[in-house]
Amino acid sequence: MTQNYSQPIISDELGSNRPNAAAERNYFARGVQTPALFEIDGNPIPALVAEFGSPLFVFSEHALRHKARHAREAFKQRYPRTSFAWSLKTNPLKGICQILRQEGWLAEVVSDFEYEKARDLGFAGPEILFNGPYKPRAILERAIEEGALLHVDNWDELNLIEKLVEKRRQPLDVGIRVWLDAGIRPVWSKFGFALANGEAERAAERIVRNPALRLHTLHTHIGTYILEPAAYRTATQKLLALRDALERKHGHLIDCLDLGGGFPSNSLLHGMTGPAEQVVPPIEAYADAITEVLNRLPEKKRPLLRLETGRHLVDEAGYLLTSVVAVKGVHRSRAEQDSLSARDYKEQLIAGEDSKVNYILDAGINLLYTAAWYRFEVRPSRLIDKPPMPSRLYGSLCMAIDVIRDYVDLPPLEVGDVLSLHPVGAYNLSQSMQFIAYRPAVVLIGEDGTAHLIRLAETLEEVQRLERLPDHLAER
Ligand SMILES: *Cc1c(COP(=O)(O)O)cnc(C)c1O
Repeated sequence: MTQNYSQPIISDELGSNRPNAAAERNYFARGVQTPALFEIDGNPIPALVAEFGSPLFVFSEHALRHKARHAREAFKQRYPRTSFAWSLKTNPLKGICQILRQEGWLAEVVSDFEYEKARDLGFAGPEILFNGPYKPRAILERAIEEGALLHVDNWDELNLIEKLVEKRRQPLDVGIRVWLDAGIRPVWSKFGFALANGEAERAAERIVRNPALRLHTLHTHIGTYILEPAAYRTATQKLLALRDALERKHGHLIDCLDLGGGFPSNSLLHGMTGPAEQVVPPIEAYADAITEVLNRLPEKKRPLLRLETGRHLVDEAGYLLTSVVAVKGVHRSRAEQDSLSARDYKEQLIAGEDSKVNYILDAGINLLYTAAWYRFEVRPSRLIDKPPMPSRLYGSLCMAIDVIRDYVDLPPLEVGDVLSLHPVGAYNLSQSMQFIAYRPAVVLIGEDGTAHLIRLAETLEEVQRLERLPDHLAER
């Protein structure tokens, strides 16, 4: 791999629609057809919406397993001592977690909710890696009892853990979370002990000296959607240097390096131009960056490598199907639109903002939290043989910021048209909110093409189940 080469990021003005990218640079030679997505793993999109409603989250088991196996191969071929943990917060649905469990993944959790969820899913204590800056005492006690691997985040947590393990006869394996500068901005300094000022080393030494604890892992998680494989090389080198120093001073060789997650999916941020497959480095580039460093060690000294992948695995497996419920801001009637002269059409494009067609969808940022950063690909579910026009996609919330795509070229759509948004499998469902609307159903398409409901659409009864009305307010 070339080390100094950074992928160019081409700005928005060069176009958005990949088959037409060249044409789009020139208003006078625009592409004429927008690609459609008709089906997901053999299930026609209109049929999915007819059966399960709109909006609808759809996940592909095939895509998820394929991605997981690909990532596993990329690392294991280069470095057999690699183990993977699934970051539950990326997508905590049982149907999704269970697939990764079957593929051999451990669970990576960051809260009491996620810890309990992982146990409920069948992960044994030792199959759980416990991160996060706040681990309430009750769940810490349970995790210690059940043998989970705690990644200690801060001094106050270390104080508490030391108290909780005082009477142990067998030392408890723990890790520490380290924050370091891997060349990525901003540096995520909120989590863990600083490497640069010696804090991480002091925390490690304190654990090494405590007979009730055993330092098993050095952990770092440098960010998310990291487009620079070299950052992982730096992080690996820095953790190894700390491991070396601790071995020299204390004779304790740490068994495991955990490089966290952060590997990108094939998605784009606003302002980037794709195709994502060309802008986003392949997982092999990350595997090279990390394992080249580790493979330089004498074989006996090579640590267990752990990765806590989230986004990279599940993002592309997820789609959101959403319907157009209203069309706004079209200054000319549909009939006129259809018969625009070439000159009118050019004028409309150049006029920009005013000429944008605005669509209101039945899904908004309540379901697509990450729309603020990521530029989802939008596909109609039927072929519309009309020139694309500058369009904006609004969600259905009563908030002006509820915009899914501020600018996207789409052919004229009609009320009832179903669009697919992709990739949306990471962090959208888990951060979705029940604000003014019910959360929709979630479907998993199994490897044989059968659609299974993995989360029901919410109902009034479900949403209100936890509410209580005090007696003095009960009278109608
Ligand atoms: C969120 C998180 C991950 C997963 O991050 P991705 O960018 O989705 O791969 C891994 N480790 C920790 C500690 C996290 O908080």
